[in-house]
Amino acid sequence: MLAEQIFALGLGLTPPWKVMSQRLDTEHTPTKLHLEIGADRGALYPCPECGTACKAHDFKEYTWRHLNFFQHHCYLTARLPRINCPEHGIRRVQAPWAREGSRFTLLFEQVVMSLVREMPVNAVARHVEVTDKRLWRIVRHDVSKAIAALDLKSLKAIGLDETASKRGHNYITVFIDLDRSDKPVIFATPGKGKDCLTKFCAFIEAHEGRPENIVEVVCDMSPAFLSAVEQEFKSASVTVDWFHVVQLFTKAVDDVRKLEARQTKLPDHTRWAVLKGAEKERTQHQENALLELVEQGFATAKAYRVKELLRWVRRAESKQAAKWRITHFLKHAAEYAANCPLLEPVRSALASFERHLPRILHRWHSLHTNARLEGYNGLFQAARARARGYRNVENFITMVYLIAAPIQVLVTS
Ligand SMILES: [Zn+2]
Repeated sequence: MLAEQIFALGLGLTPPWKVMSQRLDTEHTPTKLHLEIGADRGALYPCPECGTACKAHDFKEYTWRHLNFFQHHCYLTARLPRINCPEHGIRRVQAPWAREGSRFTLLFEQVVMSLVREMPVNAVARHVEVTDKRLWRIVRHDVSKAIAALDLKSLKAIGLDETASKRGHNYITVFIDLDRSDKPVIFATPGKGKDCLTKFCAFIEAHEGRPENIVEVVCDMSPAFLSAVEQEFKSASVTVDWFHVVQLFTKAVDDVRKLEARQTKLPDHTRWAVLKGAEKERTQHQENALLELVEQGFATAKAYRVKELLRWVRRAESKQAAKWRITHFLKHAAEYAANCPLLEPVRSALASFERHLPRILHRWHSLHTNARLEGYNGLFQAARARARGYRNVENFITMVYLIAAPIQVLVTS
């Protein structure tokens, strides 16, 4: 078999295309393998519209990056003709080995797409020796094409949450389908608040879904979200995610600690001792800090007790039991938090809790547990790690989709 035939086989070339010549350029590092693709003089090419075999009108030369051939960077060059179709006029013939507008071959893009599922994009960029900026373009193209094909006809319960793509910058809001146990992300958009919901509604309508079919929305306690949710999804009941309740009180504990630390010296290791959940293992230092906080009657210890009492509420097995526990929780928590200016953050968290009580209680008869929403954080962290060095919020969203959306990313022309 001739070298040209071997290359043609690897590229999946079909007539009239064939490898005309190959040349190894060893004068530059990395060395380059150039494959020239062409067709015999007088060959006929299919019209891109109707497939009719037509004569070439004129030619223009293009180059595509192909998979490395051993240590050599491999490039394909071909003169693509314009044909003159009797019906469609003058049209540029598309190369069957690349998608329109791309300067990479399909095979190259396929390999990139399978690698970015396993490793960070900038690591893939180093591996295939192409700038990450160009790789992101490939990834964004394929992912957005797959997302466009998403069918949301049966969507009826959603959860939403926001996260920063970088520390404190560029918020995105992510929507999940609560009935999907695997790969639940169906939409992600830059920003937070009301506008994101409006965009989401337009998105589901464009994907055969209907906002009025949404019967449940699980979200946090932000007033902007809640009012917008009730406006956009008129048939939905709103559940405040337990994760956000815990977050509310965790922040209150931390605020109390900060206030108190300004007035007095707190035991070493206090911060993590009170932030860590009871079921997670505290270090001996943290255990000692906690003991000292409680024994000395620090305000931080009282705030911590309120947060821990929440666990007992959560373990309630029915809505009835939850109601009973919450009554006791509110009574005891109010006692712990009384008469001390330092505990104002806890009192304000309790007020918030009471205000949202019906939505919080809803979790006890919701069909959708909130376990999945807590899983959000893991997902966001993975996307951040994998998109490391990503240049903008679009790339971060692309990575969230790639990791967690129910899509098949297939490279096709
Ligand atoms: Zn035609």
